[in-house]
Amino acid sequence: MKTNAIRIHEYGGPEVLKWEEIDLPDPVAGEATIRHTAIGLNLIDTYHRSGLYPMDLPVGLGTEAAGIVEVVGQGVTDVAVGDRVVYTGMPTESYSERRNFSAARLVKIPDGITDNVAAAVLLKGLTAWYLLRRSYRVQEGDPILLYAAAGGVGSLASQWANQIGATVIGVVSTDEKAELARSQGCAHIIMADDDIPARVKELTDGRGVAAVYDSVGKDTFMASLDSLRPHGTMVSFGNASGPVDPFSPLELAKRGSLYVTRPVLFAFIETREKLLSACDELFEAMNSGVEVRIGQTYALKNAAQAHLDIEARLTTGSTVLLP
Ligand code: NDP
Repeated sequence: MKTNAIRIHEYGGPEVLKWEEIDLPDPVAGEATIRHTAIGLNLIDTYHRSGLYPMDLPVGLGTEAAGIVEVVGQGVTDVAVGDRVVYTGMPTESYSERRNFSAARLVKIPDGITDNVAAAVLLKGLTAWYLLRRSYRVQEGDPILLYAAAGGVGSLASQWANQIGATVIGVVSTDEKAELARSQGCAHIIMADDDIPARVKELTDGRGVAAVYDSVGKDTFMASLDSLRPHGTMVSFGNASGPVDPFSPLELAKRGSLYVTRPVLFAFIETREKLLSACDELFEAMNSGVEVRIGQTYALKNAAQAHLDIEARLTTGSTVLLP
């Protein structure tokens, strides 16, 4: 079968994204063919495009999408033809009209959740889940610091942490994002160009926060350590400003025996059992009020514009690409 997909033949800026017709083979045993209806955009897609996370070229892009199962390979029992499904994972081929994917990694979309919302929430919502429930288990009353609070992961994590009873201090770069972040559960806002540790100390009676969720990386790592209380946890989970520079563990001792973790979603959902149980917690949080905000949509063919916008910090909430 022929299908259309965005692929890259070299690393670079958004201009390297090419819309191409490709051959899609029949699914092998254990795989299903999915016709995509909605594709999730994630900042990680720009790391794949730029070569920060290298892959063999040429290659597709995208690690999250929703759609309909069209064909199943031999031995597939987890899903059937016609099921509405969503998935996240490698290989990076979600920027396409159709693709084959391991059936054991497909999640049936519950009734009441649209394909667009499913594609907007799976990767980012599961990230919010492991950040708040696994990397550092947020307790009621904890003050926490969360960067990019109006972004994809940030808007879900701020609502969820607020639901748990944490006091969320959100970092954002514009007044519009500040307003959004407040409406999504941030009790306090710090602007990205403020003195972040000083503002955190003011807001926490000089103590610092229990945990920092830092997706900015290079530019904010040390400010994040300086914002923690003794024994606090630094969760460094992204590179929006570039990868974190090497640092001495003595920096952790100096600040009162800090913990640092550099997690990645796929380590928390590596089996089907773990994936489905994490999804149950995510869907439960959505039932209890965590809303998925799709801030913008783009035609899949226009993915380069979406990359330009997310890298220029122009997007809010989740972004969905439509095939
Ligand atoms: P977002 O929608 O949050 O977009 C990125 C945001 O980062 C921007 O809107 C901007 O918010 C902020 N930002 C701060 N500094 C910069 C900069 N120098 N350049 C660009 N943006 C900057 O993206 P996602 O929700 O897709 O991802 C959020 C973060 O989480 C990313 O860093 C991503 O890599 C990470 N992530 C990590 C995972 C993991 O398992 N480790 C899984 C999923 C995501 P503002 O303007 O308000 O500062």
